[in-house]
Amino acid sequence: MNNKFVMLTFDLEEFDIPEEYGQKVSDSDQMTVTRTGTDRLLSLLDKHQIRATFFTTGNYAQLNPELIKSISQKHEIASHSLYHSPFHAFEEKDILESKRILEGITLQKVTGFRMPRLKPFNAAVLADWGFEYDSSINPTYLPGRYNLLHKSPLPYTENGLLELPCSTTPLIRFPLFWLAFKNLPIGLYAYLCRVTLRKRKNLMLYFHPWEFAEIAGYQLPGYVKGPDGEVLVNKLDRLIVNLLKQKARFVTCQEFCKTL
Ligand SMILES: [Zn+2]
Repeated sequence: MNNKFVMLTFDLEEFDIPEEYGQKVSDSDQMTVTRTGTDRLLSLLDKHQIRATFFTTGNYAQLNPELIKSISQKHEIASHSLYHSPFHAFEEKDILESKRILEGITLQKVTGFRMPRLKPFNAAVLADWGFEYDSSINPTYLPGRYNLLHKSPLPYTENGLLELPCSTTPLIRFPLFWLAFKNLPIGLYAYLCRVTLRKRKNLMLYFHPWEFAEIAGYQLPGYVKGPDGEVLVNKLDRLIVNLLKQKARFVTCQEFCKTL
């Protein structure tokens, strides 16, 4: 029996990251950049006939309901709270509001949550609000952001909720998050994924659709914005091919929860 699972997850959100670096991006550009990357990702997933999970902000969904509805017919839609921008102060009730919006659009139950920027929040409310899993923990040490080395790198239950941690390698807990995928040569990144998959039997990888649009012109550090666009789509294509050769099964987070 094949028991190696890969979860590709995409944080489907406004392209607001330049605002963290002092550059204002118009609302329409925030939408267009994300849309370009999303369309490319959907084609890539279709090409390999694999399913993925899109953690979507309520705000993005409200502004793009047809897109969200159509994604939900093949993939899983989960919540990425209501707003992404740091200029919208987060309130706990945003989580519930985003669930209501996403369920209204998809007519499906939304059971997963990921906090924008993986910021700390009160996960104890999630189970009461009908969530079944959270994926807001990157159990590693990122200087200046967080130190979560005390957290389990394997799925665990807490607050009546399944926690699906973002993947880190065995031993040194090197994070296999979007910046690693972007900045490491694909051969090395795929190797680290294979090692981790063998040891942990699952991979939880996360990316953002806007990375797969052309973002070289924005005021972002080089390690955040490059490679971008089609080059990055091709890189993800190679990773998927590599992991399919390992006989890994690509599943949505909801499907993975059912295996635990
Ligand atoms: Zn996000």
